[in-house]
Amino acid sequence: MTRPVHTPHASLTAFPNPHSRLAKRPRRSYPVEMATFHAEDYVDFLSKITPDTQHEHATQMQKYNLGEDCPIFDGLFDFCKLYTGGSIDGAVRLNHGLSDIAVNWSGGLHHAKKSEASGFCYINDLVLAILELLKHHARVVYIDIDIHHGDGVEEAFYLTDRVMTVSFHKFGDAFFPGTGALDQVGGAAGKYYSVNVPLRDGMDDDGFRVIFKSVMQKVMDTYRPGAVVLQCGADSLAADRLGCFNLSLDGHADCVKFMKTFKVPLLVTGGGGYTKSNVARCWTYETAALLDREISADIPEHDFYYEYYADVEYKMKVQPTNYIENLNTKSYLQDIQQKVFENLRALEHAPGVAMHEVPPDSMIPEFDEDDLNCDERNGGETGRDARVFRDDEFYDDDGDQDGS
Ligand SMILES: [Zn+2]
Repeated sequence: MTRPVHTPHASLTAFPNPHSRLAKRPRRSYPVEMATFHAEDYVDFLSKITPDTQHEHATQMQKYNLGEDCPIFDGLFDFCKLYTGGSIDGAVRLNHGLSDIAVNWSGGLHHAKKSEASGFCYINDLVLAILELLKHHARVVYIDIDIHHGDGVEEAFYLTDRVMTVSFHKFGDAFFPGTGALDQVGGAAGKYYSVNVPLRDGMDDDGFRVIFKSVMQKVMDTYRPGAVVLQCGADSLAADRLGCFNLSLDGHADCVKFMKTFKVPLLVTGGGGYTKSNVARCWTYETAALLDREISADIPEHDFYYEYYADVEYKMKVQPTNYIENLNTKSYLQDIQQKVFENLRALEHAPGVAMHEVPPDSMIPEFDEDDLNCDERNGGETGRDARVFRDDEFYDDDGDQDGS
């Protein structure tokens, strides 16, 4: 499950970053882009519904699984446009060789379905970003280390061999969303292109490192993707309010570091995370890892949210707990690994996925000048940027409207 987060950015800006890479403000994505995956009627409903009008549309609210886990709140559709624009633009930058790695911590809403919201995910930015990558790459790997199964992304590409989805998640005990069993491997042309690594409570760093690295090494060797999308949900960390794994920051970040070593264009997104201070720690730490930077063990004093970090003495640390038992025995993990390897071996003998005809470049409509120059954009947000971006960061706010 995923939640919008604001703290990682504030925490990131607390660290000096004199050689900062480019920080880009993404454009808002357009409803027509969302509808390249989502049903038009669903996108249209999301764009119009408000907290005040939702009670007049009970049937559709139910049809689209809105309410409860997926509440309607003020600015919902703008939130969708922003996080989706970030992921699509990240993919566009990778496609054009403008970045080796693109990061969108506000993205990663992996549960959203074609015509349905789920687990606080409304628009599936990951699916849309992968569709963008598929315009330039024959094969894309999607990896999900959120504690919840990456069901929305898997479902979207379940029948195709052009995307291999690999999800590491807690499975069993009716844990949300309930899918992601080991034998859920894809169908039709996509058989064996969905990889599920179902795990039990208490997953620790050592076990996770072994299973993640061995499976991903095999996937990369077998499938040889042109681009990788990595969803880094932080609810797999120890002490998460909803999670039941026991990973430290290093255990989580090692996945990011490992995928970086393949030097394949990489889109990194956020995802779930319910102990807010740890979400911020995690994605700050992983940003540093992606930039090959060491950051201090002490979180520097700063103006925003500093008090949140009192929980672990203002340290960049997520402490594994000792009150959760690790139910992932060595033999359990070995069995899973063996089964996943068997499935991947079936692919080694299959003909490689041919590079299909390359479709036209990103279908991004001409930008709307009104949108670009609206007060919100030039006044409100730029004003806020000035407060949260450090002077020594290079903040770039141009050029992205045309998707360059
Ligand atoms: Zn989650």
